[in-house]
Amino acid sequence: MKAKVAISKASEGASGMTGMWRIKRPVMDEGKCNKCLMCWLYCPEAAIVRGKDGRIWITYEYCKGCGICSEVCPTKVIKMVKEV
Ligand code: SF4
Ligand code: SF4
Repeated sequence: MKAKVAISKASEGASGMTGMWRIKRPVMDEGKCNKCLMCWLYCPEAAIVRGKDGRIWITYEYCKGCGICSEVCPTKVIKMVKEV
């Protein structure tokens, strides 16, 4: 008998407008980003988008401010700052 495996995949907006939960926001220094895609891979809300030109940006409507992107970024170019 084959084992069944459940795999979840983040999708933008799957949990609603999760940006309303945020008390801190990730701010990226785009000029220092090496486009490794670690933040894109780990964001649980799929709030990090990669453009066809390789550019990376954050959609704040869905970013809930968890800080995972900042933790996994190897070059530390994402800083979490307090919402005003
Ligand atoms: S803080 Fe980063 S990892 Fe967390 S939801 Fe926002 S963009 Fe995604
Ligand atoms: S993890 Fe950091 S260096 Fe890598 S794509 Fe994201 S912001 Fe850029």
